[in-house]
Amino acid sequence: MSLQYDLHSHSTVSDGTLRPAELVALAAASGVDVLALTDHDNVSGVAEAGAAAREQGIRVIPGVEISVNWNGHTVHILGLQIDPENAALLQGLQGLCEYRRWRAQEIGRKLEKKGISGAYEGACALATGALVGRLHFARFLVQHGHARDVKDVFRNYLVTGKPGYVRGEWAPLEDAMGWILGAGGLAVIAHPARYKMTRGKLRRLIGEFRGLGGRGLEVVSGSHSRDEYFTMARHAQDFGLLASAGSDYHSPDNPWISLGNLPELPPGCDPVWSSF
Ligand code: AMP
Ligand code: MN
Ligand code: MN
Ligand code: MN
Repeated sequence: MSLQYDLHSHSTVSDGTLRPAELVALAAASGVDVLALTDHDNVSGVAEAGAAAREQGIRVIPGVEISVNWNGHTVHILGLQIDPENAALLQGLQGLCEYRRWRAQEIGRKLEKKGISGAYEGACALATGALVGRLHFARFLVQHGHARDVKDVFRNYLVTGKPGYVRGEWAPLEDAMGWILGAGGLAVIAHPARYKMTRGKLRRLIGEFRGLGGRGLEVVSGSHSRDEYFTMARHAQDFGLLASAGSDYHSPDNPWISLGNLPELPPGCDPVWSSF
């Protein structure tokens, strides 16, 4: 029988709502055999997840999802099988988390100007882990009746041109790649179909990523449509990249995205787990 892989997930360390151990227990109960914990810009959940994995009898791949600026776009790069104690990786991620603290205050100030008070404090209270992200603001704004749901908050408050938008100052692609490779990890472009790029620009990104030692493309993602699986599979094959699959699970509040349960990779893909 083939193993169930889910190589993209979040815990309370970043913007998920389950603690690392709870996430691993849910993965095991959902039939996942191999789970990657890939919190945004932080690896402090990896130890707890690893201990829970031993208890639950599944495998946890230590990972991270690094926020990157590339040619005016925010791009997410997954590092799989990284050494969570690598000094250069930790130092790089620390810089991103410091920036996130400043950005959260700035988002709070901007919302305050629009008459929404207490958003910074509210988001911080919902962020029990290592960092505050936009999703914490989104949850606060929904709870306080400023929007119907999280999607609505992003549409109306937290994206370019909206009152709570702050331009991301993330890591340059080459730096993020250096941290991942230096920590012994395998780099994968997360949810490539989610970037608002033309096909040509996306292929430029993939080419540069590959030139910097990148190995994989997330072909099956909780945020991709069926058509996008096939388009991304084609890009992976064209560039000789391995194909990854991950739900990008954040929370039981999003019942349309579950842990595991991912469709098979399209035919012709070389799965990233063949290299584990
Ligand atoms: P940040 O890295 O703090 O800028 O926040 C990015 C995170 O916000 C993503 O990882 C998602 O968890 C969440 N997110 C972004 N856009 C949306 C959206 N339209 N609906 C729901 N969540 C979103
Ligand atoms: Mn997230
Ligand atoms: Mn992402
Ligand atoms: Mn993610």
